[in-house]
Amino acid sequence: MGTAASAFPNPIAAELEGVSLRSAKLLRRARQRRHTLAIQVVSYVLGAAALLVYAFAGTISLFIPTTFFLCGTTVIGVFAVLSETNVNDRFEDHFLTVFQVGAHVVIQLAFLIAAPQIGYAFLNVLFIIFAVASLRMTSFQALVAWTLTAAGVAPIFLLTRIPLGMPVATPTERFAALLCFVLTIGQCAFVGLYGESLRKKLYRSGVKLKEAYRRIEELAELDELTGSYNRRCIMRMLGEEITRARRIETRCSIALIDLDWFKRINDAHGHPTGDEVLRTFAITMFANIRTIDRFGRYGGEEFLLVLPDTPADGAAQILERLREIVADLDWSAFSPGMRVTISAGVTTLQPSETPDTFLARADRALYSAKARGRNQIACA
Ligand code: GH3
Ligand code: MG
Ligand code: MG
Repeated sequence: MGTAASAFPNPIAAELEGVSLRSAKLLRRARQRRHTLAIQVVSYVLGAAALLVYAFAGTISLFIPTTFFLCGTTVIGVFAVLSETNVNDRFEDHFLTVFQVGAHVVIQLAFLIAAPQIGYAFLNVLFIIFAVASLRMTSFQALVAWTLTAAGVAPIFLLTRIPLGMPVATPTERFAALLCFVLTIGQCAFVGLYGESLRKKLYRSGVKLKEAYRRIEELAELDELTGSYNRRCIMRMLGEEITRARRIETRCSIALIDLDWFKRINDAHGHPTGDEVLRTFAITMFANIRTIDRFGRYGGEEFLLVLPDTPADGAAQILERLREIVADLDWSAFSPGMRVTISAGVTTLQPSETPDTFLARADRALYSAKARGRNQIACA
């Protein structure tokens, strides 16, 4: 039967699917890392450009911007090699954020000592480093990075007499200072916007995930062939309905519905046609029951209809109407002259009855409807 195949998924296919999901995840991570490293290169280009203006002003030698750029790109290159050789994937934080923060902070401190006359420019970069890192770091990692940076900066401020400056004596120096500030503010703002876009993306995938989860839950409750509730679900609904009927003291009826001579339909027209008949029958039922009614596949060509707030005579009338509708349906599209009928056993909940005894009475009523010649309703 169609449902049996999907009930036992192929373990090799599942394994392959797992492997391809894992490799897709690794590829996505590597792409994210490349993206981050490329942004870092741009940041060093901008930083070195501002330092070049100071070199042009004669405040520092050309050696500083050149080595600043080379040191930055070398560190980025090392992390790029680690990333491309998938070393990063061995770590929980595949960005190796704390290590990257550490390396870039060391560069800034080294240049703070090498070119203290423009010390503010390297201290500025610390803001950018921490703004970027805050997108990825956990609170613990942030605490570690902040403590180490403070431990690195403190001796320079407290234990040395190195004069840390922001030279603005000439127009070129004023322009270089302006450039440093504007670029730092711009990069921090960019990081903020990037973080915001990540949050939006995360929110959107959260919504999508919720929707997918709801759909999975829905599918887990449905019978694949007919779209009606599956046995587990309709039984749960029956239990809930019995509890509700007792609590608010209302009548609850059920009907076990079975297609007549269904084996003959299969034998005469083939199993696929039998499947189509089952599907059409289920659609017909859905089109003709109330929204409060619950309709599920009890097994094979047998269905359970739960009728809340329905006394015995009302249930009998509903089932009689449904029987007529199915019997009067034009089934000739499947095969000329085809007829499909149903029999049903209808019962109404009695005080202190369990779902099992309730169903057993419906089953006995169904049996008597069959015994009396089929295409009819019997009430227990
Ligand atoms: P009765 O009127 O006494 O109910 O006769 P019947 O032929 O309907 O009952 P029986 O229990 O002898 O046969 C039921 C048939 O329903 C046999 C089984 O192959 C068929 N069947 C059960 N599930 C499916 C299904 O998913 N698709 C198809 N095509 N046939 C199914
Ligand atoms: Mg049958
Ligand atoms: Mg049957």
